[in-house]
Amino acid sequence: MTTLYDPTREEIAVILEGEASYRLDQLWSGMYTHFKKPSDIQTLPAALRAKLDAQLPEGLIEIRRETSENGDTVKFLWHLLEGNHPIETVLMYYDERATVCVSTQAGCAMACGFCATGQAGFNRQLSPGEIVEQVVRSAREAATKNRRIDNIVFMGMGEPLANEPNVWAAVERIHGDIGISARHLTISTVGIVPGIKALTQRPLPVNLAVSLHAARDQLRTELVPINERYPLKMLMETCREYLFTKGRRITFEWALIDAVNDTDRDARELAELCLQLTPAAHVNLIPLNPTPGWPTVGSSPGRVAAFQRLLRDLGVNATTRQNRGTEIAAACGQLAAGQPVTLNASRGQSK
Ligand code: SAH
Repeated sequence: MTTLYDPTREEIAVILEGEASYRLDQLWSGMYTHFKKPSDIQTLPAALRAKLDAQLPEGLIEIRRETSENGDTVKFLWHLLEGNHPIETVLMYYDERATVCVSTQAGCAMACGFCATGQAGFNRQLSPGEIVEQVVRSAREAATKNRRIDNIVFMGMGEPLANEPNVWAAVERIHGDIGISARHLTISTVGIVPGIKALTQRPLPVNLAVSLHAARDQLRTELVPINERYPLKMLMETCREYLFTKGRRITFEWALIDAVNDTDRDARELAELCLQLTPAAHVNLIPLNPTPGWPTVGSSPGRVAAFQRLLRDLGVNATTRQNRGTEIAAACGQLAAGQPVTLNASRGQSK
């Protein structure tokens, strides 16, 4: 099924055959500059609006919209028009910018035990239009607050590089038509080597984030099972090629899990991997957020700070990710799309 944000401009031109040629511009800018669906684009004649609405329905049905207490985080729960699968999108307002975290698959097949999406399993790939529409619908919400979207992170449900062609088509649309530059787009991967290689061949230098979580194979395979297929040496080699080709610093993401990957030894092993790259990889520490299917808690705030300090002493630039939206289960690793989630938000701070 083709939904509203799937067709290219050329494909829309075919749908508009027989109409005055300026209708294409009106429709395209209505959709990508003003974030409207055809029925709300007043410059189009009513009959055409009705035809377009029928032929190109939106792909996301809004089920729920939750806002954090202070209003800085909004989580959308959608059902896909095709197949009814649930997915989520998170919109985050900061003082100077707004970021949308988009899903790239309904569910995820990577089975990382500490991630709620991984615990729930895989449904299907999202189409380019279903990815782009998450940005558009978030931008529509942001506009009600007089805010614009500045950054897109492909860090929602799913593994972007297990759906690379569709993710790339979405990147091009977000870049070319919504107008967000490559340096404001970040693709996060669990470390799918062929996907990173594909990305290396793509023209735009988007930011690459790699969810590392462990810097030795045995532990990493326990936490991130795909490591068995793409072990650290191969992953690092592929990162080096990406860095060489794109010239954009790589980020390693590290969810700090109490007594699992937060020891001094872990910090030293991580620093060693970071320093193998030039420029050295930047580390983004994420204190583990609670999920229903994982017993271990996140590292205590004191341990997080000590781990960060140790990395810095070893010459590695590390930041700790601000925890957003835990009370609406919108934080990293908590996107389960309406699965029954019972969370004790204080769990991660219990030490
Ligand atoms: N599949 C991609 C995109 C998801 S990004 C990837 O793994 O990179 C979501 C980020 O949140 C990843 O870095 C993931 O490892 C991390 N994450 C997953 N579960 C988490 C949890 N419970 N607490 C903190 N971070 C978590």
